[in-house]
Amino acid sequence: MMSYDVVVVGCGPVGALAANLLGLKGLKVLVLERELEHYPLPRAVHLDHEMMRLFQSAGVIDRVQGDMIATDGHLHVGADHGVIRYMGTVGKPRPFGWANDYFFYQPELEAHLREGFADRDNVELVLGATFIGLTQDDDGVTVDYSENGEAGSARARWVIACDGARSSVRKALGVGLDDLDFEEPWLVVDAEVEGPVAFPQLSGVPEGADLQRLSVMMCDPSRPATVVPGRRDHRRWEFMLLPGEDDTAMMAPEKVAELVGAWMADVPHRIVRAATYRFHGLVAHQWQVGNVFLAGDAAHQTPPFFGQGMCHGLRDVANLAWKMDAVANHGAAPSVLGTYQRERDPHVRAVIGAAVAAGRYICELDPVEAAARDARIREEARQKAGETAHDLIPAIADGLVLAQTSGAGARFVQPVLTDGRKLDDLTGGDWRLFVRDDAVPGSAEGVTRISVGTLPDNGAVTAWLDEHRADAVLIRPDHYVFGTASHSAEDLLAARAAQLSSHQELAA
Ligand SMILES: Cc1cc2nc3c(=O)[nH]c(=O)nc-3n(C[C@H](O)[C@H](O)[C@H](O)COP(=O)(O)OP(=O)(O)OC[C@H]3O[C@@H](n4cnc5c(N)ncnc54)[C@H](O)[C@@H]3O)c2cc1C
Repeated sequence: MMSYDVVVVGCGPVGALAANLLGLKGLKVLVLERELEHYPLPRAVHLDHEMMRLFQSAGVIDRVQGDMIATDGHLHVGADHGVIRYMGTVGKPRPFGWANDYFFYQPELEAHLREGFADRDNVELVLGATFIGLTQDDDGVTVDYSENGEAGSARARWVIACDGARSSVRKALGVGLDDLDFEEPWLVVDAEVEGPVAFPQLSGVPEGADLQRLSVMMCDPSRPATVVPGRRDHRRWEFMLLPGEDDTAMMAPEKVAELVGAWMADVPHRIVRAATYRFHGLVAHQWQVGNVFLAGDAAHQTPPFFGQGMCHGLRDVANLAWKMDAVANHGAAPSVLGTYQRERDPHVRAVIGAAVAAGRYICELDPVEAAARDARIREEARQKAGETAHDLIPAIADGLVLAQTSGAGARFVQPVLTDGRKLDDLTGGDWRLFVRDDAVPGSAEGVTRISVGTLPDNGAVTAWLDEHRADAVLIRPDHYVFGTASHSAEDLLAARAAQLSSHQELAA
């Protein structure tokens, strides 16, 4: 039986990114994928700047970037067809080196991610291989699968289950799902269009906002709907099913033509697909059982109102990949993997909570309630005086971080340097210690020390240190801040070494 560091079950976007990240670190990886081709139709259409940074880390950014369209943010429209909430990004700073949001075509992204590891000798993808079951012992996991009717088995230290919402691995482990009490039926329509989408009777559109570059949420109680620009000529509509409406009738070509036709006036367009989905808020009780980890839709499902479902999954495997590398290649204690769920679960629940809350107001069908909602949201939006979608993402509060220090657990900035490079391209993506100047003591094996004064920097890293009253900041390989320190980085590095060598108290 062949032996691997990691068996990844499922090669959707999450499994494919895992294969890239683990492969880059030299781990021996087997990817088992049931289908012979990647899923041909788009589901996710939106991702955020953090995913672009992860693609940078995984070495696939040059493959994916050309098919990404930077967007201008999100717009929510009320029952009176006036704007109630604008999460715009135009003219706002880009602290992480990328635009805040991008639109893309999921099958293209999945193809690029597979190409990213195709030439690696240490990563093997088996298509047509269906997970059957697994057994665990003290040394690892035996995975059983069938490939074209033939039984196969593989041995691995760890398994990452990226086999989607109906995860067979999750079921084999007997892990249940927390239902966050949201289930709404929506019709999803994709079309290729030859012109702009029409938005008749829309009022209160912020000056300069380009409706063709925004995802627009129509919170209209007569038919809640979303209009999303895609890459090139792709457009996405999502229509809520009203009580009593039947899935099959809603997917009928004449009904789809009627719904989409209202937005396309005289613009030629071709429907690519129409399918109904149940939008859920679900989170697995347990993300780790022994040496098996659930990631992506196998671990959680998010209503797509902020376009974060796949993004969660990509963050999951970024979190696991650097920790597996630390254990396999750099002597970290296996118990650091016990921080996975503790770091990711609160994060996912926070974003699902925001998406469910948005879903509740978006799906309001009572015109009186909808009018009251519009008044309330307009008032809240006025008080916030402008928000962007990245405000949704909380810092890691509990895990492999020095939580009591300023800025710990937040995503670190990635300025574009004065020579045009992005910070990570200059410094690499492993552990990085940024010190204000050479006088700040502290260095450690496996940590790249960077004196900020030597950077062709536009001042963003110094400004970050000033904001957090720190002279040193230690960044994890997934770009989250481990912790900060004043005067000396010695204690900060010692805390890192201690947490990597023993994480008993967190692994419980
Ligand atoms: C309408 C809609 C809109 C969405 N919009 C967005 C958005 O804009 N942004 C966003 O971030 N997310 C969005 N999402 C969510 C996003 O599509 C999913 O979160 C994402 O595809 C999950 O990726 P995954 O790799 O975890 O699972 P999947 O993409 O489901 O991949 C699972 C893979 O595992 C394979 N598999 C399954 N069972 C087995 C088995 N037993 N053995 C071997 N292989 C197996 C499958 O064939 C598949 O290739 C949307 C979802 C929907 C439905």
